[in-house]
Amino acid sequence: MDKYMPNKHMIDTIIIGSGISGMAAGIMLAKEGEQVLVLEQHSVTGGLTQTYSRKGMIFPTGVHRLGSLQPGQPLWYYFKYLGLLDRLDLVGLSNDCFERFFFPSDDYKVPVGQEQYQHKLHEYFPDHKKNIARYFKDLKTVISNISMYDPSVTPLKNRSLQYTGSLKKYLESIGISGRLKSLLIANSPLYGLSSDECPLLTHFLVSDSYLNSAFRINETNTPFSKALVDCLESHGGNVRVNARVKQLVIKDKTATGVMLDNNEIIQSKKIVFSGHPSLILDICPPELFRPVFRKRLNQANTPGLFGLALKWKKNRCPFRENDAYIYDSWDVDDQYKRHEIMKDDSLGMVYLSALPNKNPSGITNKNIAVTALTGISGTETDVLQTLYKESKDDKYKRVKNKIAEKILNHIKQACPDVHANVEIADIYSSATFARYTLTKNGSAYGIKKTAQHFLGGMFSPATKVKNLFLTGQSIGFSGIHGSIVSSVNLCRMLLGKEYITTKIIGVKK
Ligand SMILES: Cc1cc2nc3c(=O)[nH]c(=O)nc-3n(C[C@H](O)[C@H](O)[C@H](O)COP(=O)(O)OP(=O)(O)OC[C@H]3O[C@@H](n4cnc5c(N)ncnc54)[C@H](O)[C@@H]3O)c2cc1C
Repeated sequence: MDKYMPNKHMIDTIIIGSGISGMAAGIMLAKEGEQVLVLEQHSVTGGLTQTYSRKGMIFPTGVHRLGSLQPGQPLWYYFKYLGLLDRLDLVGLSNDCFERFFFPSDDYKVPVGQEQYQHKLHEYFPDHKKNIARYFKDLKTVISNISMYDPSVTPLKNRSLQYTGSLKKYLESIGISGRLKSLLIANSPLYGLSSDECPLLTHFLVSDSYLNSAFRINETNTPFSKALVDCLESHGGNVRVNARVKQLVIKDKTATGVMLDNNEIIQSKKIVFSGHPSLILDICPPELFRPVFRKRLNQANTPGLFGLALKWKKNRCPFRENDAYIYDSWDVDDQYKRHEIMKDDSLGMVYLSALPNKNPSGITNKNIAVTALTGISGTETDVLQTLYKESKDDKYKRVKNKIAEKILNHIKQACPDVHANVEIADIYSSATFARYTLTKNGSAYGIKKTAQHFLGGMFSPATKVKNLFLTGQSIGFSGIHGSIVSSVNLCRMLLGKEYITTKIIGVKK
């Protein structure tokens, strides 16, 4: 297929945004023979899949680990269909312990496999075997009744709406409380919701995904964002960076093209917007959408994340093969009430995740790249954004350094010698994410889908504007898996439900 020539072609599909959702949609449409052009406002591709280099090491931004990638598991189908599996060096986390939860007086190890974890929980909580068995039985039931998560077992009837009640209420109803409850909900930083707000199905989907299998990408050898571009290009699609769409061209309530920052106009038959959905109000005349829809676009987002990129002496890092969550209290939900980490609030939780540490020639490095993340509210992100604009090199830096020191002190709870073994390679805040991916308030996972307001947080890929579609983590579910599913959903609408599902399942043959 011809390379894209500005203003000479009417493109089939313009995708705005080169994160996982935009790229997944672009690859699927390009595989069907469409001429696809992805436009990315940033100077590099990838959105939250991008990596960056500091002090000679590669660090991830928004992808630390992936679940369910063993052959035949849910995400495996999607990765295989997109052509990613052959392009990524995936490194499995330890089967005996892929994640560790540190609480003030206890440390729990989670193995891969539902049965194995159930067994481990029996050891940790011998008096609660019945409640634990009930939890795993319900997990299986819920998962098997949700369509789209696992394309190979899509149920005849999607019963997901039956499972949108609060996780907290569910656990109470089956008699789970105290420390067992704290442990079971302690993976909540992966979806950014307290147990009261979290719909049961969100918790079960995320837990099931990682209990199936857990992998990290060897980003140094095979950057995820590059693999996505390679897949798209192999089907004739193209990506342009530094290409911010400042306006959609709309005639008679029909999208016909886009205008870039430099006033260049590119025409296309359809447009898919994959950024935070509220941003379409900045690039379309807002009156095209009803006030109630505009309100939904501006509803609450999940909190942001504040991060440290750490160069950790490899032999002194206990988290090479597992992720760790370090809590400073048993009240896991308390982390969502801390709104002043820039002042005196303690952090509540710090999450640690390392990248596999082989360079392209296969030599193992002396140091390992570890990311440390902690939650930060939208209000504090706003303050940080203002500080960044007003005093980049001064107050913003001082505030960032103060939180960085808090994070290292917090890690000491699980790793007393952390200060002696790490060098801070970079400090970034939710304001950094807001700048690089334009995500609202630096939110990690976009618009909240809460138990109290589940349907209000879910969006259709179609909009009131003809030929304008939406995809991305805010449209359906978040995470790499959830964002891909939002694009599969879009393609099911554009290409036919059975057609695309059959193709995805067909990869197993
Ligand atoms: C710190 C962090 C850690 C995470 N860790 C994990 C993890 O380990 N595993 C996991 O599964 N998920 C993880 N997630 C979640 C996951 O990264 C996201 O759910 C997913 O990447 C979102 O993809 P997206 O395509 O919806 O959005 P994005 O990646 O944000 O892509 C949207 C793109 O649109 C572009 N854009 C917006 N407006 C315009 C415009 N007008 N013109 C041109 N371009 C535009 C943006 O620049 C951006 O590149 C993490 C998230 C964060 C923040």
